[in-house]
Amino acid sequence: LDPTSDNFSQEELDIERALRPITFDDFTGQQQVLENLKVFVQAANLRDEALDHTLFHGPPGLGKTTLAHILANELGVGIKVTSGPVLDKPGDLAGLLTNLEERDVLFIDEIHRLSPIVEEYLYSAMEDYKIDIMIETGPNARSVQINLAPFTLIGATTRSGLLTAPMRARFGISSRLQYYDTELLSTIVQRSADILKVPITNDAAIEIAGRSRGTPRICNALLRRVRDFAQIKGDGNIDLDISRFGLKALNVDTHGLDEMDNKILSTIIDKFKGGPVGITTLATAVSESAETIEEVYEPFLIQQGFIMRTPRGREVTELAYTHLGKLKGGTQGG
Ligand code: ADP
Repeated sequence: LDPTSDNFSQEELDIERALRPITFDDFTGQQQVLENLKVFVQAANLRDEALDHTLFHGPPGLGKTTLAHILANELGVGIKVTSGPVLDKPGDLAGLLTNLEERDVLFIDEIHRLSPIVEEYLYSAMEDYKIDIMIETGPNARSVQINLAPFTLIGATTRSGLLTAPMRARFGISSRLQYYDTELLSTIVQRSADILKVPITNDAAIEIAGRSRGTPRICNALLRRVRDFAQIKGDGNIDLDISRFGLKALNVDTHGLDEMDNKILSTIIDKFKGGPVGITTLATAVSESAETIEEVYEPFLIQQGFIMRTPRGREVTELAYTHLGKLKGGTQGG
C-alpha cells in the first residue's frame, strides 16, 4: 500500500485500469484544474490544433496518468505512453515521436528522470515539432532534420523541483494536483465499489476514504482489500463494522499515514525534541532525500496538521504526539 512503490501485481494493475475514469465527467475533484483543462481542450478542438504541452505535478496516485488519458480521450486523439527512465537514448524518443499523428498525445511519466541528452533532444520537438535523426552509418552517416506532426507532450512528475528550468518553460499548461478530502475520496470509493459490484454503506465509504492519505490510488486499494474481508469474513456487503475490522487487520493507520510519514514524525519527536529541525538534517535522519520529503511526504503532513513549517525548520504539532501516543518531553506514552 505504499503509494510511492511500483510493486503492483498485474492483476492489481488491471483492476486499477478498470477503475480509471475516462472522461472529464467521471473524474472527481481537482475542480479548478479540471475547469481550466476543459476550456483549453475546447479551444484546441475548436481550432483543430494540438493542445499546448501540459505538465502535471504532485504526489503519486492523485490522478496524473488518469488525466493524461482523459485529455487524449476528450481531444479525440491517440496516446502513446512512456516514462523518463525508459527512454535511454534519443533514438528511443525519435521512434515514438515520428509515429505520432497530428494532435496525438505523448505521455511521459516521471519526466524529471529523463537523461539530459534525451531531454535536450525533446526541446526542439516540443518547440518547433522538428527533430534531427541520424541516417546511414559509417562514413555516410549524417543527420537530417525531419518534421513531426504537431503533438501534445504531457509530462507527469512527483518531483517538480527536479525539473530543469528549460524543460519547465516549454510547458504552456502546468497544473499541480492536490490531495483529496475525505468527502471526495468517499465519492471515489462509492464509484469504484459500483464498478466492482460490491455493495457498500455510506459510513463504510467514509471510513475507508478517511484512511487513504488523501489519495485515490490508496482508497481503491483499501476498498479491494476490505472487499476481501467482506467476502470471506462477512456476507459480501461492506458496512462500517467489516471495514473497521479489515482496516485494523491490515494495520492501516487511523489517519492513513504510511510508514515514512510516521517515521518522519517519530524522528522529529525522538531525535529532535519535536523540532524545529532543518530539512537536510531531517532527511539524513530518516534516510530519504530532502526533495522527496518536501514534495511527497511533507505536503500531506502539513495539510493534515501534523507538521508546521517555521523559519527555523519543521516542527511537529500536538496532533503528532497524540497520534503516536507520545508525551511531550520524550517519555513514551500509552
Ligand atoms: P498518478 O499518475 O498521479 O500516480 P493515477 O492517475 O495513476 O495517479 O491514479 C491512480 C488511480 O487512482 C487510478 O487508477 C484511478 O483509478 C484512481 N484515480 C485517480 N484520480 C481519480 C479521480 N479523480 N477520480 C477517480 N479515480 C481516480
